[in-house]
Order: sequence, then C-alpha cells, then structure tokens
Amino acid sequence: MPLDNVVLTTTDDLFIPGLVHQVFNKYKRDNGIILTKEERSQLFSELSALLGEGLLQRALHILDEWNFITYYTSDRYRCIVELTSKRNLAQVVRVVPYVNYCKCRYFQRFVLQLKEAGEKENREQNLNSNQVSFTCEHVLAQCLNQLLHPEPRTQILTLDQFRYFQIDIYED
Ligand SMILES: [Zn+2]
Repeated sequence: MPLDNVVLTTTDDLFIPGLVHQVFNKYKRDNGIILTKEERSQLFSELSALLGEGLLQRALHILDEWNFITYYTSDRYRCIVELTSKRNLAQVVRVVPYVNYCKCRYFQRFVLQLKEAGEKENREQNLNSNQVSFTCEHVLAQCLNQLLHPEPRTQILTLDQFRYFQIDIYED
C-alpha cells in the first residue's frame, strides 16, 4: 500500500537513525561537563557497533587531525560547521549540524547510493554497491566534536557569506 511506503520512509521509523540519536542523547551533557574516559570509550564502542568500526575510526581521525569552526548568522539562528584538514588546508568540508548530508564522495556513493558518472556495472562494483552507510565520517565527526568539545571555535558571518556557504553545501 502506498501509505505504508510513505510511513516507512520517515526517519522516525528507521532503526539506525533512531538508535544513533539515542546514543548521542545518552552521552549529551549540559553546562560544559565533559565525558569521563570510560564514558568516551563506551560511546565509541556503541557507535562502532551501530555504524561500523571503519566509519568510526575515520571520524575519530578527523577529530584528531582536522580543525572545526562553527559559523553563525548574526542572529545565531543558523549555523554551519567547517572542517579543515590541518595537514592540507585545501581540504575543507562543510556540514550543517543536525542535518545528515554531506557533499563528499563517500556520502553520495554509500549513503545516497548515487552512481558515479561512467561507472560500469561490472561484477566487482556490484559487490561494492551492496555497501550501505547511514552517514559519512564528516557528519559523524561533527556530531562527536559537538558532544566532546562543548565550547567550539565560532565566527559570525554576514548573511551573504553565510548564504554562499549554504549554497555551496548543496551544490555539486
Ligand atoms: Zn562527508
């Protein structure tokens, strides 16, 4: 029935998003309280069980090796987080907090399941295309950074600058 299909595609009814949300909520602390070492390892093992060890490791690598800055509009209603590799400043990824979307190749390929231009339907790629992921390392790293570093670096942007970044996030 068409109605059932509609219901099934809403995020609330999917297991992984709900469970990931629960894990993040469980470890969310207020008033700048930071997690203990034990809580951190518990958090990482729960996320690893849900999302896969590879994805979690790549996200932790980003936490170690990349800088995070949060850009706000002057009314502070909207924000974008920019992740920049410390080793290669040209490597920049921007994501919107609480939005599971990223422009990166991994997200397009394994989360959205979009085929790359010219991709051939050979056997090897058919095997690879079975891989489905809930999110990419950048979105996950941003969520973790928000949880682990309650006081991020921030900067206020003009509306024009903010719009430019916002359009860039969703543009191919
Ligand atoms: Zn990404």
